[in-house]
Amino acid sequence: MDWIVPLADLEYNEEENRAVLDVLHSRWLTMGAVTQAFEAEFAALSGAKHALTVSNATQALHLACLAVGIGPGDEVITPSLSFVATSNAVLYCGADVRLADIHGEEDFTIDPSEIGRLATPRTKAVIVMHYAGYPCDMQAILAEARKHNLRVIEDVAHAPGGKLDGQGLGTIGEIGCFSFFSNKNLSTGEGGMLLTGDDNLAARLKLMRSHGMTTLTYDRHRGHAYSYDVVDLGYNYRIDEIRSALGRVQLAKLPGNNALRKQWTELYQKLLAGSGVSLPFLNPRGEPSYHIFPMLLPEGIERKGFIDRMREKKIQTSIHYPPTHLFTYYRQRYGAISLPRTEAVAAREVTLPLYPSMGQEKVEYVAAAVRECLEQG
Ligand SMILES: *Cc1c(COP(=O)(O)O)cnc(C)c1O
Repeated sequence: MDWIVPLADLEYNEEENRAVLDVLHSRWLTMGAVTQAFEAEFAALSGAKHALTVSNATQALHLACLAVGIGPGDEVITPSLSFVATSNAVLYCGADVRLADIHGEEDFTIDPSEIGRLATPRTKAVIVMHYAGYPCDMQAILAEARKHNLRVIEDVAHAPGGKLDGQGLGTIGEIGCFSFFSNKNLSTGEGGMLLTGDDNLAARLKLMRSHGMTTLTYDRHRGHAYSYDVVDLGYNYRIDEIRSALGRVQLAKLPGNNALRKQWTELYQKLLAGSGVSLPFLNPRGEPSYHIFPMLLPEGIERKGFIDRMREKKIQTSIHYPPTHLFTYYRQRYGAISLPRTEAVAAREVTLPLYPSMGQEKVEYVAAAVRECLEQG
């Protein structure tokens, strides 16, 4: 499909090409100096003590759950309105999820009062997700978590570079899990990062990322170690130098790219005012990363028809998200769950194109198309 406006676009140029070729010329391809530099630079941007790369955010979420001790018999509270990986990571540990509702039409992040409603004596943690890059109400979440003695993990897949009360998102809970999938704000194709301020958690995450081995190939290559022990059942969740090199270039561009996303978001908000669509996050907390632009269709507009009419104008749209509790696998596992605010939002949500290089003309083209497609509905 040759879109006039795709949903997302890579912000790649000559710099990414050169970074990859430099790695190839160096003849060291995985977990080396480039990855260490990427981790140090990402930690500095977010204000975190420890940063650990992985190959994707799903692995990051899995390791985060393992590191805080989630296992069979435990429960973790997760938002249903997220990518399914947020909940799947819990199930990988043999634990169960307790799916939570959102605030409502103006704020699609987890409602902190859900923690009290869902927590049982088996509940050990909550994973929050900064939907579209808009910070969750972390103060209330941390207070609820303390009350119920829960660990707090942040799914920061949408929000690299975002902040709340001056703190980097992903450093407010105990562990932050980032994604560098190709459509995210910082993209390396596949890729991810873990942040934590806790030395013991960092050591455990590092061990579990690489087979539970006590030393790494790179340490042995540099003569820092000659053998190793295996002290736990770990995984191979490492990243390679090629993607870390892409990550470093993308990280340098992130503040500028997030600023452009903000500019196009605010232009959309201005152009769509009074159009009939309902826009969430008009008064966001903190400093969002503006990952995607979600909107709600007016009641009575049939979504599939609207998306088809946008497609005819060569505009790609998406849905964030089909709620986790309505997927076949989750229904079979947990039966019928009712999350009325999530269901109301998810039924009417459409995500419009948003990417840094989009430009004013394309934002105007999409906003005008939305108005026309609503009239035809
Ligand atoms: C993209 C995404 C993930 C998964 O990231 P991967 O790097 O593709 O594993 C998890 N959670 C959310 C909210 C996401 O958007």
